[in-house]
Amino acid sequence: MRYISTRGKAPELSFEEAMLTGLARDGGLYLPKTIPTLSTAEIKALHGMPYEEAAFTIMRPFIGDTFTDAEFKQLIAQAYAGFNHAARAPLKQLDSGHFLLELFHGPTLAFKDFAMQLIGQMFQAALSRSGKRITIVGATSGDTGSAAIEAFRGLDNVDVFILYPHGRVSDVQRRQMTTPSESNVHALAVTGDFDDCQARVKDMFNDFDFRDTVSLAGVNSINWGRVLAQVVYFFTSAVSLGAPERKVSFTVPTGNFGDIFAGYIAKQMGLPIDRLVVATNQNDILHRCLSTSDYKPDGVTPSISPSMDIQVSSNFERALFEAYGRDSAAVAQLMDELKAGGFKVSQGAAQALSESYDSGRCSEEETSATIAQAMKATGELLCPHSAVGVKVASEHLQADTPMITLATAHPAKFPDAVEAASGVRPPLPAHMLEQFSRDERVTRVENDLAEIQTLIKDRTRS
Ligand SMILES: *Cc1c(COP(=O)(O)O)cnc(C)c1O
Repeated sequence: MRYISTRGKAPELSFEEAMLTGLARDGGLYLPKTIPTLSTAEIKALHGMPYEEAAFTIMRPFIGDTFTDAEFKQLIAQAYAGFNHAARAPLKQLDSGHFLLELFHGPTLAFKDFAMQLIGQMFQAALSRSGKRITIVGATSGDTGSAAIEAFRGLDNVDVFILYPHGRVSDVQRRQMTTPSESNVHALAVTGDFDDCQARVKDMFNDFDFRDTVSLAGVNSINWGRVLAQVVYFFTSAVSLGAPERKVSFTVPTGNFGDIFAGYIAKQMGLPIDRLVVATNQNDILHRCLSTSDYKPDGVTPSISPSMDIQVSSNFERALFEAYGRDSAAVAQLMDELKAGGFKVSQGAAQALSESYDSGRCSEEETSATIAQAMKATGELLCPHSAVGVKVASEHLQADTPMITLATAHPAKFPDAVEAASGVRPPLPAHMLEQFSRDERVTRVENDLAEIQTLIKDRTRS
């Protein structure tokens, strides 16, 4: 299995190389050269399998000879051993035909644990084999950073630096990043918003001298290994509702487009998905683009669903690559236009996008109202991101096709917003309480590339 860049000017890589690299050297994102498929019989056989076994079956065709079957099974088992639910990704019913896929039973209470815990294991295995040391640098609007730190803290061959927007993450999110005491963990609070953090990380990857000096590796949602790990729960949940005999639809609270793109991959692999619905909050660039073809960032407005507060949606580039028939020159051109302010998707590509995705937007008021309604109707406390999904899903329900909305975080990660909306303060699971008594360790930095690079070089020089 070989991996190619969406911009066509970086070398083809193996799974291991694509995973360790993250962003391609031409600025693009890696994708498999061909997407493997599972037969109807193979999909049927997933029914009733333990999550780990299903994960092995679904991901195995993508990893080539990076790990033996026995190794890969072991890594998957270790990745999910720390989850607090035997089903890993349990499905709950909200209403007739509408289901909630709970993806928040991992160690940091958000869906990002599914991918991050697995790539932590895969990085560790690959690096201890080669004896190499790497520096992971990531940007976060809250959940990626905590999941990355949780997955990589204390690992031998890795330093992890996480840039987050100062003052714009929740208390729980911040503490998850600042309280681990391991010396390979570095939380950096940046003066700026999430897009600033993400832009500085991209700058570092595009500075090849720096990139090679510190052996930079990325685990942001553009990392192919992360997208791959997220494909699994689209299969397990669809199969439990009757796939492959029955089609299902998904609604995904979306920011960087990684999670929903994993759904697209599942569909390409043969899972009968009817609609993939992109749900955005008031930062609705994706909804606007999917409905008008114009992709034009106009600044982030902070919301109560902060993990979706973005205007530059990295993985959308993969969707564009697919919609343009894998024309890397066209994608490179769009990304150049984006630097100059925005772009318009061609008619053909817009048609292709609309065949794959629907979209909707949920305002702040609607988000709060949905939390309150769900609480009243089902007793279920939704986190604000999941509420955005539930609201948009409710506008896309179809008779005969079950809708699965992804619940991307535990409500206790966003207690203030949930309490304000519902009157109920979601209790933090017991194992998370002790972080409130631990010391925080964080470095404040300006939104300044040189300053951040110097700090990283200093701290990784051994
Ligand atoms: C990251 C995140 C999202 C957005 O997922 P993408 O893959 O970036 O689209 C939604 N909800 C929560 C809680 C998240 O942490």
